[in-house]
Amino acid sequence: MVPTQCGGCGEPGTDWCGDCARTLTDSPVRLEPRVEIGVAAWALGRYRGTYRSTLIAMKEHGRRDLIGPLGGALARGIVTLSQWGEIPDGDTLTLVPAPTRASAARRRGGDPVAAIARASADRLGRRVAVADALATSARARDSAGLDARARVANLSDAVYVRRRFVPSSRIVAGPVLLVDDILTTGATAAQSCRVLAAHDLHVSTVVVIAGA
Ligand SMILES: [Zn+2]
Repeated sequence: MVPTQCGGCGEPGTDWCGDCARTLTDSPVRLEPRVEIGVAAWALGRYRGTYRSTLIAMKEHGRRDLIGPLGGALARGIVTLSQWGEIPDGDTLTLVPAPTRASAARRRGGDPVAAIARASADRLGRRVAVADALATSARARDSAGLDARARVANLSDAVYVRRRFVPSSRIVAGPVLLVDDILTTGATAAQSCRVLAAHDLHVSTVVVIAGA
């Protein structure tokens, strides 16, 4: 028998404890990434403590059950940012998950960022949609362990818009949010925004679970 443990703090007897749930209701924080993205980037919290341990449990230890709580936290963060005027008003809102290298996603049992985005959209109602429009070509290596400049070079021309989203009118009109799990240098977000803009999709805000 595998004992039940909180995915955030390891407390036995629960999958997700009240303390960790409360931590993920922190107000969003504005990030200052080293790589210029061109739009504001926000995180639900800093990549440490509960945020870090929860993301590691989900991504590295197969805790897919944490996608629900993380999607709920992202949904609350989006509502807060809308109330602050950091997300433009619109009839619809489209969440575009940042790209995950296909083989990395397979190894982790499906793209967790897209799953978090869908869990978030489910909570936000039918005016919020997920457009899984971005992918990376096989040339992009996993960026773990690369410094900022290497990450930019590694991603150069490797992020692309999936064919079924071209032309971009296939993505509903209205504000577009780029969502990711972690923002470190900002290189992935910057490249993603550039590639989307080339297809006339202008990201208004970047929102991530945790910022470095
Ligand atoms: Zn906990």
